[in-house]
Amino acid sequence: MDMAEIQVIKQHLIDPEICIRCNTCEATCPVGAITHDSRNYVVDADKCNLCMACIAPCPTGSIDNWRDMPKLRAYSIEEQLTWDTLPEALSPEQLADLAPGADLQTAAPELPAASPLSGTAEEAFNSARYGATVPPWSAAHAYTNLYGAKSAQKTITATVTGNVRVTEVGREYDTHHIVLDFGTTPFPVLEGQSIGIVPPGTDAGGRPHHARQYSIASARNGERPGYNNLSLTIKRVLQDHDGNPVRGVGSNYMCDLKVGDKVEVIGPFGASFLMPNHPRSNIVMICTGTGSAPMRAMTEWRRRLRKAGKFDGGKLMLFFGARSKEELPYFGPLQNLPKDFIDINLAFSRTPGQPKRYVQDLMRERAADLAALLASPDTYFYVCGLKSMEEGVVLALREVAQQAGLHWEALAEGLKRDGRLHLETY
Ligand SMILES: Cc1cc2nc3c(=O)[nH]c(=O)nc-3n(C[C@H](O)[C@H](O)[C@H](O)COP(=O)(O)OP(=O)(O)OC[C@H]3O[C@@H](n4cnc5c(N)ncnc54)[C@H](O)[C@@H]3O)c2cc1C
Ligand code: SF4
Ligand code: SF4
Repeated sequence: MDMAEIQVIKQHLIDPEICIRCNTCEATCPVGAITHDSRNYVVDADKCNLCMACIAPCPTGSIDNWRDMPKLRAYSIEEQLTWDTLPEALSPEQLADLAPGADLQTAAPELPAASPLSGTAEEAFNSARYGATVPPWSAAHAYTNLYGAKSAQKTITATVTGNVRVTEVGREYDTHHIVLDFGTTPFPVLEGQSIGIVPPGTDAGGRPHHARQYSIASARNGERPGYNNLSLTIKRVLQDHDGNPVRGVGSNYMCDLKVGDKVEVIGPFGASFLMPNHPRSNIVMICTGTGSAPMRAMTEWRRRLRKAGKFDGGKLMLFFGARSKEELPYFGPLQNLPKDFIDINLAFSRTPGQPKRYVQDLMRERAADLAALLASPDTYFYVCGLKSMEEGVVLALREVAQQAGLHWEALAEGLKRDGRLHLETY
């Protein structure tokens, strides 16, 4: 028998029951092994080199599934896309039948020697590989997966206690600030974490809707200090990414909620996009649209610390982009923050009669300040918003570093290793 016929591999699979379709793994995979359709996220066995880069960032753990499979019988992408549950692992007997004579020891995944940042200059620029998967050393402990498939508690029920618009009235940009209260059930969260909302009902295939993930927009001690509540910033999706009309299931459900309605929640998720807590740590926040949610949370926590006389300095710098000021969530309240507390830079790409400006343009204008912050080990960078912004922002950081004479690849290794550059785009 030919060796290829009996070779057994560790096949990397995603559990469709737990996966919340957040796209983090696909964005992280350096070799493009992960793909998805409207139903499932799947891993291509021919491309996956078991580098493990996707394991830590996955908020639910659904990506950490492995099956010993004869190489020639590996589950195809097409097959995985039809799954509602993971297949059972093959027993040693079944495996021996399918691949007689195979050495099962060789199936263990081998970790690569290369760092996820290594690569040749000719490779296409992949911004996702610069994102940290560890939190800042001084971040508070984040509780994750208290509710959801990985927990004994499937969901927690929250009550809507607020739902207001935070953009001006416009057809294309209806964004809501929604407050959820958890009553007497503990639901500890930190700024930068997210939760999953389970929309009621079923999808076109009759399956329960998968959860939609939303970043927490409030500080750790509640949207209202001392209350067991949190806020979200949700944009009503009325167009898909190609501009075709669509009615997004989760976002429309949430934006239409009334005060008093009940919502099923899972999470919290996220253990790395967390803010530093040590004295004089600087935070640089770069966001577009609803990517402002975690930035609002971090800013509010620092504002509360300052009000209580517990703020030990440290810069807060914000780069915030939207098409126009009418579309920018929380535009009014942002203007009221003291100038000596936060350095705000706004970019609008569609203001009539004005040249288009993106967050990257503002970052280049503030290159001198950003270079000093990049060089300081006490500065942490957070990028959140639409997927399309990520590459431009990381390229702008690279440009700023290189112009200042900093060695970008060495700096980037440090940013990643020390949890100093966090990317969350969707
Ligand atoms: C880590 C993380 C944090 C997130 N935080 C937030 C947040 O704070 N606020 C927020 O509003 N959203 C956030 N999202 C996006 C959110 O989870 C949903 O994807 C979004 O609300 C669309 O869900 P839907 O059910 O309305 O649309 P679906 O019914 O899932 O999709 C309908 C169609 O719209 C397309 N589509 C999906 N999202 C968008 C979009 N944003 N713009 C244009 N087309 C889209 C889909 O490809 C699909 O074709 C976050 C996502 C992730 C992964
Ligand atoms: S293990 Fe590495 S190669 Fe495989 S899917 Fe995850 S990130 Fe991609
Ligand atoms: S939940 Fe995990 S496996 Fe599912 S899309 Fe997100 S990162 Fe990937």
